[in-house]
Amino acid sequence: MRVEKIDLKNLSQAELESFTASFGKERYRSIQILRWLYQRGVHSFDEMTNLSKKFRQALEGVSFISNLHPLLVEESRDGTKKFLFQLEDGNRIESVLIHDKKRLTLCISTQVGCAMGCRFCLTGKKGLKRSLTTAEIVNQILAVRETLPDKTSITNIVLMGMGEPLANYENTLRAIQLMTHPEAFKFSSRKVTLSTVGLLPELEQLGKEKVRFRLAISLNASDEATRSPLMPVNCFHPLKKILEVCRKFPLQPRARITFEYVLLQGENDSPEDAKRLLKMLKGIPSKVNLIPLNEAPGIPFKKPSEERVRQFQDILMEGGLTSIVRTSKGADISAACGQLQGKLYNLN
Ligand code: SAH
Ligand code: SF4
Repeated sequence: MRVEKIDLKNLSQAELESFTASFGKERYRSIQILRWLYQRGVHSFDEMTNLSKKFRQALEGVSFISNLHPLLVEESRDGTKKFLFQLEDGNRIESVLIHDKKRLTLCISTQVGCAMGCRFCLTGKKGLKRSLTTAEIVNQILAVRETLPDKTSITNIVLMGMGEPLANYENTLRAIQLMTHPEAFKFSSRKVTLSTVGLLPELEQLGKEKVRFRLAISLNASDEATRSPLMPVNCFHPLKKILEVCRKFPLQPRARITFEYVLLQGENDSPEDAKRLLKMLKGIPSKVNLIPLNEAPGIPFKKPSEERVRQFQDILMEGGLTSIVRTSKGADISAACGQLQGKLYNLN
């Protein structure tokens, strides 16, 4: 019988601890492995020089260290870089690296494609191929990090690439745990943001998890009648219920939920929409990211004029709601929000 080897990067910190314990090893050995994998980013067991040769060989007998290599890196006029990765099974995903003043933000994918079918999003147009493993999620960070010059580091991670993170709950959470673990990637929980359409059972479950991060909810409308045709998922996970969960969501002191709102001309961009949004978010510690639509062939909407966007933002600000207009980066290489297609996922 051929026994499948374990991909070490699919294990959470606790799972790695049990794994090393099965060799009769102490906890600190698992910590050493975590550091090799995520702080040093090694590709082989031989590089783990503080482990005995015998232990390294034993590990190699039953496990392996997976990696991703970019197939293509495209650079936008504004410096945004898009990385295309080919997975073991031939599927393709993308990650986007965005420079913004002092921040270097990496936007990563959690699925190949997406099943949610939002009508303004190219990722949604092709449907879902499959979810990513934990290793495939964290390997995007490691692979991009390797391309950076010395002394340059990724400061923020956003799970806003291809896919709906809460539709790949377990693997996404395990990946976030590794991102924020002090012996693994060591990102502060304030520097990791998960963006979701708000799948209700998973959203409620999130509030009970120990792992911490920033939460962003893609609202994109201020009432059910507008949201449902734009986001079919709203029929099963309606706005009203999502906001009820948000109202009770356990937040760290001073933390806020980010609400994302893609502005579509004539669909959800009127002053009445802005007023409804303001009213709807009363009582929830929130801030709003307004994203004028990134237009693309095949997307049946237009972005509103700058004046209209400003008017929308002014209404929110006057009502005391912090709101930021997100200028799109990387649109010339299709790297902006909603434009990731993994080069059509697969060439096979
Ligand atoms: N599936 C998750 C995360 C990936 S999408 C989610 O929907 O939240 C990340 C963000 O891109 C979402 O807020 C989504 O509303 C936005 N988006 C999708 N298509 C877009 C487009 N064409 N222009 C601007 N933003 C878009
Ligand atoms: Fe999926 Fe998010 Fe795109 Fe909707 S906006 S189709 S949930 S990736």
